[in-house]
Amino acid sequence: MQDRRLVIMYSGGLDSLIAYHYGRSQGYQPHCIHLNFGQPYAEKELASILRASEWHPSVDVLNFRELYDLFSSRLTNHIIPSRNVLLAVLGSMFGPRIWINALDGEQNGKEHDKSERYFQDVSALLTFTNEFFQSQTVVESPFASMSKGEVIRWALGHGIPREVLFDTSSCYSEHQHKCGTCITCVKRYIAFLENDIEEPGYEVDPLKSQYFAELLIEIPQALQSRDFARFTEKRSAEFMALINRLGVPANG
Ligand SMILES: [Zn+2]
Repeated sequence: MQDRRLVIMYSGGLDSLIAYHYGRSQGYQPHCIHLNFGQPYAEKELASILRASEWHPSVDVLNFRELYDLFSSRLTNHIIPSRNVLLAVLGSMFGPRIWINALDGEQNGKEHDKSERYFQDVSALLTFTNEFFQSQTVVESPFASMSKGEVIRWALGHGIPREVLFDTSSCYSEHQHKCGTCITCVKRYIAFLENDIEEPGYEVDPLKSQYFAELLIEIPQALQSRDFARFTEKRSAEFMALINRLGVPANG
């Protein structure tokens, strides 16, 4: 019988909530673990994670209090160095299969810690390291070939109420629930729009953000030059379909 143990490194964002339900639908028994680095938006994330409802898993929160001061000098923006390496190592202490979410298109990021090579290399390293107590350690993303729009579609199609999805925390702002200008706010707003849903609660309209203006230039350019190093072909096509539907002129 296949081992049904699954460790989900749970950020509290939209993708991790959906990954929990996705894992259960695949017959896994997820153990959700959140690592609190003390980053600027940590309190907001925790509030969204420690919510008790039929839709939310119970989450073990690991705090690195003693390291907060050391970390905080390195956490001046939303990027946490080596984050996914650390998450994989911690997850491997709890079970042989670890989920860290990376969606279609996110594997190409500058940080490399969501890349295909990262998942392959960290799985190989942890399998070798832990061989004496588990024969294989797999670090993977369940959503590697799905876009954010598709992940949301899966969730809605499996009965997760949209309000539960709205309540997840992805925004990098320390003070606002959904600033509407950071990259994650814009990405998730677009992904909901692709499902014909206008997500409420943004401080400013994400379609008026600088990042959206950049997408309007860069995605048509990517399609024209067929250079999908930054945006995958699928994500580019989805984006163009959306802005055509919204009647927004692209500037490529
Ligand atoms: Zn934001």
